[in-house]
Amino acid sequence: MTDPQRADELSERLSAVHQRIDQAVLASGRTDKPRLIVVTKYFPASDLRILAALGVTEMGESRDQEAAAKAQELADLGVRWHFIGQLQSNKARSVVRYAHAVHSVDRAPLVAALGKAFANRRTEPGQDTDSTSAAKTLACFIQVDLSTGDSRAATISGHQRGGAAPTDVVALGRLVQATDGLSLAGVMAVAPLGRDPVAAFGELAEISATLRGEFPAATGISAGMSGDLEAAVAAGATHLRIGSQVLGERPPLR
Ligand SMILES: *Cc1c(COP(=O)(O)O)cnc(C)c1O
Repeated sequence: MTDPQRADELSERLSAVHQRIDQAVLASGRTDKPRLIVVTKYFPASDLRILAALGVTEMGESRDQEAAAKAQELADLGVRWHFIGQLQSNKARSVVRYAHAVHSVDRAPLVAALGKAFANRRTEPGQDTDSTSAAKTLACFIQVDLSTGDSRAATISGHQRGGAAPTDVVALGRLVQATDGLSLAGVMAVAPLGRDPVAAFGELAEISATLRGEFPAATGISAGMSGDLEAAVAAGATHLRIGSQVLGERPPLR
């Protein structure tokens, strides 16, 4: 059962986001268009069905319990699930069952946990082994903490958003690359509160260039949310993670 009014609303909002991306691409002089990952966290499965019918094929979720339930309920849609939230190592076993990519790889023990979980993963009984969850590798983005000075202190004392120090990215990349079942997709970041996103994503682009110096295939740059996608596109983002501009204000945490 689809609510036709909600379907119209999502269709309009999605078109507006695509227009915004197209304009940002044009303004930046790029010839490629970044991928749009629609961040569906906290929104009901009915909205995700509408989005899939509108052509959305990549969806982002940040909490394992919610993502696992949606992936199971919506298995028929064939969407790719991107895990974008902070990830505890003990959730790795669950995440590898449905995720196409993890954007929040930020420490060595998590790399080990993901590798082990991927090697031991079981597909659900009756699950199609050709489905995306049965992919040969799990794409891993190294999440970078781009906070500086005061904002770094705020991140550490307040809500920890995760991310490796910029100087640890290459070492983590080596670890991912050396782990069976994992593939190094590139880097990911959230622009820190209180820092100009242009400067933050500029730094991310430099970190990406350093990583590509050693791993030329790790071309991914996952950056840009509803509030700062233009800065991310200008800095060369390959994957945009857009939530509220497509879906509206997020409902409160259940
Ligand atoms: C929620 C979230 C997004 C989407 O944010 P919006 O501002 O709603 O577009 C992107 N990335 C991460 C890591 C998130 O947690």
